[in-house]
Amino acid sequence: MRPPCVLAVFAHPDDAELACGGTLASFRDGGYDVHILALTDGSNSSVPRPQDRRREAEASAAIIGATITIEDLPDGEVRVAGPTFAKVERWMRELSPDVVITHFTSPLPLDDHQDHHATGLVATTLAKRAITPQLIIQGEPPVLNAGFTPNFFVDVSEFMPKKLAAIAQYESESSKPYMRENAIIARATWWARQAKVHEAADDACYEAYMLIKCRSTNPHMLVHGQKEKVL
Ligand SMILES: [Zn+2]
Repeated sequence: MRPPCVLAVFAHPDDAELACGGTLASFRDGGYDVHILALTDGSNSSVPRPQDRRREAEASAAIIGATITIEDLPDGEVRVAGPTFAKVERWMRELSPDVVITHFTSPLPLDDHQDHHATGLVATTLAKRAITPQLIIQGEPPVLNAGFTPNFFVDVSEFMPKKLAAIAQYESESSKPYMRENAIIARATWWARQAKVHEAADDACYEAYMLIKCRSTNPHMLVHGQKEKVL
């Protein structure tokens, strides 16, 4: 029998690590196959050496224990349209994932990046329609997160060193404030406070999600991020 599988569908290399790097490492540690699908190569980035992102993404995925596929949709022009559905559907069929993680689909039309919004809509639509996913969640946007009111949290305290090491692989992106270690830790400790108001240790780190679908019979345990209760 094949191991259970997590498919993380994101627009650009680095999006998955920022939104759910700790969760992916946690699933990997729990025996899941973890696959990251980046729909573009990020080559339209404003950073000095965007061509480095493919190599960086592979090094980053290796730290998490994931495999990664970088598709060739045009960076900056991902649409809710046939080619995007085709790319994502192919991997949904290939992997039959038990868990799908993707971008938050903001209700605010101008919030976050247009590629994130389109990717999240397509991946969420296809995941909901598929048979195998037990859990579908949308991760925190990397910068503008107005409207993001998470209702699902995963304790990634143990996996923060891997998340930080994975993100550090993106040297070409290192000038961006949201890629800095202190910013990543600040977000994770804030979400720990939100998830466990009275109980979180000072150094607890959580990742936050919008829950789209879960077949668990124990939602209380889920919101406290106990992954072993997820499936
Ligand atoms: Zn992105």
